[in-house]
Amino acid sequence: MTIDLEALYIDLHRHPELSFQETRTAGIAAQHMRDLGLEVIEGLGVTGVAAVLPNGEGPVVWLRADMDALPVAERTGLDYASIAHGRDPAGNEVPVMHACGHDMHVSALVGAIERLVETRDQWTGTVVAIFQPAEEYGAGSQAMIADALLERVPRPDVVLGQHVTPLPTGTIGVRPGTQMAASDGLTVMLYGRGGHGSRPHSTIDPIVLAAATVMRLQTIVSREVDPRDVAVVTVGSMHAGLKNNIIPAEAKLELSLRYPDDEARDRILAKVERIVNAEAAASGVETPPTITTDHSLPPTINDADATARLTAAFDGAFGEGTVLDPGMFTGSEDVSWFATEAGVPLVFWFWGGVDSEAFAKATAAGTVDRDVPTNHSPFYAPVLQPTLDNGVANLVVAAREWLADKAS
Ligand code: ZN
Ligand code: ZN
Repeated sequence: MTIDLEALYIDLHRHPELSFQETRTAGIAAQHMRDLGLEVIEGLGVTGVAAVLPNGEGPVVWLRADMDALPVAERTGLDYASIAHGRDPAGNEVPVMHACGHDMHVSALVGAIERLVETRDQWTGTVVAIFQPAEEYGAGSQAMIADALLERVPRPDVVLGQHVTPLPTGTIGVRPGTQMAASDGLTVMLYGRGGHGSRPHSTIDPIVLAAATVMRLQTIVSREVDPRDVAVVTVGSMHAGLKNNIIPAEAKLELSLRYPDDEARDRILAKVERIVNAEAAASGVETPPTITTDHSLPPTINDADATARLTAAFDGAFGEGTVLDPGMFTGSEDVSWFATEAGVPLVFWFWGGVDSEAFAKATAAGTVDRDVPTNHSPFYAPVLQPTLDNGVANLVVAAREWLADKAS
């Protein structure tokens, strides 16, 4: 039996599903796993799937793919572009798109399992395929763990995962240590005193307070963080007021913070708190601001020995120079919780999905940032091939590096 992976990818791309709503995607993945003879557990962490391929004594390798899509209206112009809609957690109808390439992750993992099944006379050990929901909420891996994932499938000796990214096809980006940043999502509520727009002196204006707070928060990275360190403080949402002649009573800010480790997290969170409170005090507020954490993701840290081993395996299989160090990405991931919970090494790598000629052209013109769409962009889609074949091959090479070779 041979699975038509390109058709699978196109089908998933056309039918993206929001976080924790990946029922169709999960059902398709589960069916393929059953067809390949694996033991399948569904409904882990709402929509997650785990499939076990036992093949005798030997190491247990977990291969993880995330499944969810994003509330983005696709503008790639592809003939298989998504026109799907879904409902966000607030109940709003939103466009849905695989703008982060998780459809590629699912397709590559299905293909890798098929190949490992076909070649099972060459290796021994156990492979567990993890189809994870809700990576974009940073909640799916924890939800699967909370559903006793580690007790219900063989515990891993290593956790491996990959993400398609705007690197040229044929390249793999991975580094030991911090591969992706830790992050927090915060909501800051600023409380003023509302009143008539013509009588500002009788109010405490939360819009002016919010504006001052946003500007002052920008000085954390520019003035307070060592220039050699990486940190991001983004205010991604700012809401206050309904009408020009009403000074509202409150303002709401939503922040996204990124840092390489927990120490930097503690330092920067303290700075945010100091500035929010001090600006509120400067406005003379009567009710102090509140800061709540909406989500919190750990840094994605690649085990040094396992990364060295994997880099050598990739270079051996695909040619010297395939692997490059992409530096730390300021994006965040929840894959590391699987490895942390199990107490085993993690390696999470990026593989290129941009046509290498187009990438070279943009590099020569100095227009990569403008011309090469990144994940979460409405224009983002990896080129179908060779990205898909490469994604399959990466997982197979990585899994075989840990699985034992069968003596022939
Ligand atoms: Zn994403
Ligand atoms: Zn992603």
